[in-house]
Amino acid sequence: MGANKLEFETRKTKITIDYSRCLPAMENTSESACRFACVKACRLYGRNILKIEENRPVLAVKDPEEIKRLDNECLSCEYNCQRYGAGCISIEIPLE
Ligand code: SF4
Ligand code: SF4
Repeated sequence: MGANKLEFETRKTKITIDYSRCLPAMENTSESACRFACVKACRLYGRNILKIEENRPVLAVKDPEEIKRLDNECLSCEYNCQRYGAGCISIEIPLE
């Protein structure tokens, strides 16, 4: 995994988390103002794809096929990072 971003694919989207702008990753603290809104949103509205590790959001599900099967593409991580965090999650939805 690259140090500065996390990228993964769901069935229809590509999700990128830019660690160079992610508040707790940058500050290396678990007490960041965003309170890991992305991970909480994934637990509440998504499918527990994300978890916290070493003060940053990482994949709780490692297998790419399992991510595609599980992820409900709710977009909540992106929305909540924009609202409460640094806006450093982007979700691309390619037009077919
Ligand atoms: S909400 Fe945004 S800034 Fe906060 S941990 Fe998640 S990706 Fe980083
Ligand atoms: S789109 Fe939903 S299920 Fe997928 S990682 Fe984001 S919050 Fe979790």
